[in-house]
Amino acid sequence: MSALVEASAALEEGTAEEILRWVYTRFERVAIVASFQAESTVLIDMASQLVDQPHVVTLDTGRLPRETHDQIDRELAAHPIRLQVQAPDPEELRALAAEHGANPFYRSVELRQLCCDIRKTRPLARALSGFDAWITGLRREQASSRAATPVVAEDPAHGGIAKVAPLVCWSEEQVWDYIRTRRLEYHELYDRGYRSIGCAPCTRAVSAGEDPRAGRWWWEEEEIKECGLHWSPAVARS
Ligand code: SF4
Repeated sequence: MSALVEASAALEEGTAEEILRWVYTRFERVAIVASFQAESTVLIDMASQLVDQPHVVTLDTGRLPRETHDQIDRELAAHPIRLQVQAPDPEELRALAAEHGANPFYRSVELRQLCCDIRKTRPLARALSGFDAWITGLRREQASSRAATPVVAEDPAHGGIAKVAPLVCWSEEQVWDYIRTRRLEYHELYDRGYRSIGCAPCTRAVSAGEDPRAGRWWWEEEEIKECGLHWSPAVARS
């Protein structure tokens, strides 16, 4: 059993704070990868209490809603983080638009995945080079594709560094309890019916009782609603 598999088993019953303390003790170069949804707000606040100026990576896809940039500004004002904003490769964006137009994602799953690959997956790979571990806000209850997410795992998609999910066992209610208790400012689209927030053209509000992920790529009702940051067809088949 690898050291990370053993650590994951040992941390399965740990609190989010204990998991964060473990990753910052175990690794020197650690990045929180933040989308500035509610889970990012929790993780940045917790990490800021454990370490001085935690390193935060965010992917600015070029299609984010204005409200996400507003939340980034609020986080910067509230916490002394070191923020790294990673953008897509301009040449890849130019080629995507030239070949497929401005909004190819509505036309097919393949084109949506290509857009996510260029705007998210490849930039994340570039951003994580040089880190030993990354922290994600994934929670098991968010989607069936996330139900088996380990607390800690080796991430073969990013050079074998550690991928750590301190909130993996948390419910949505626990996330909001933390935000309310700590009186943290959060992404304002939640107050307009959004429960999962990504790029503007691919995210919408959901109705009461709808699956939280129903507002992401809603035209792909039968597809796995992941962008490639946390899922790949190869992993799903294994
Ligand atoms: S979420 Fe939509 S706009 Fe954003 S990268 Fe994916 S397909 Fe492109």
